[in-house]
Amino acid sequence: MTLGELLREAAAGLAPASDSPRLDAELICCHVLGADRSLCFSRPEQPLTADDEAAIRALLRRRLAGEPIAYLLGKRGFWTLELAVSADVLIPRPETELLVERCLTHVPEHAQQALCDLGTGSGAIALALASERPDCTVTAVERSASALALARRNAEHCGLQVELVLGDWLQPLPGRRFHLIASNPPYVAEHDPHLRKGDVRFEPEPALVAGPDGLDALRILIAEAPAHLHPGGWLLLEHGYDQADAVTALMHDAGFTSVICHRDLAGQPRVSEGQYPGDAP
Ligand code: GLN
Repeated sequence: MTLGELLREAAAGLAPASDSPRLDAELICCHVLGADRSLCFSRPEQPLTADDEAAIRALLRRRLAGEPIAYLLGKRGFWTLELAVSADVLIPRPETELLVERCLTHVPEHAQQALCDLGTGSGAIALALASERPDCTVTAVERSASALALARRNAEHCGLQVELVLGDWLQPLPGRRFHLIASNPPYVAEHDPHLRKGDVRFEPEPALVAGPDGLDALRILIAEAPAHLHPGGWLLLEHGYDQADAVTALMHDAGFTSVICHRDLAGQPRVSEGQYPGDAP
């Protein structure tokens, strides 16, 4: 069978399971063949070996069963970086690039500041910040040892320096203060039907789900952050599309000023930020 024939068959087969069946088929084929995606256009007449065809078909079956393409390929592009991902971590999403963008507006280009990413997962936020602000020190905290190991691998692969710390939110950093704390914490409500659809079915539940209203982790972060921010430091949080009012109210109550929520590319309120004016209580 040729590459082009298998691609046609695979794209048709994946249609019920994917919004982008042809793209998924191309990515899977080229992943197995160790080739660039351009091969699909330039050499569709290329015959496949029996082993390659079997390996491709095995991945196509998993995709048809709903497994996210990022887990099947073991990687996902985020910001300017290519990150390894596994089922131990949330798949980095474009919404989180908005969080990175907002962080960068608060950190002047050559500032030597201390930045912190809580619940780093694959390391996406921490590594994007480290890549854009090489004069800053970036600390990333993660409670899952396997996720932290993946973040370490990504830091090494990207050639970026990040302090990686095992633990829950700010607990492993007593007495440490930062100029900026960012997080994409779990924020989905326990019984949200969205958890039974698409990629999230395969993602680690502790990285997604945060109590009955999805706000458990956000409450902890907003309560813990002031004691770990320098005066004038910023807290930036990703949250659910319907959580902006709750998150901005929690931030005001905790003493943050200049609190504002930003919308993502889909137009959803997604990232709230605030400045901590004074010394911690
Ligand atoms: N954005 C994810 C979703 O698809 C949730 C990510 C998170 O909980 N941090 O719902």
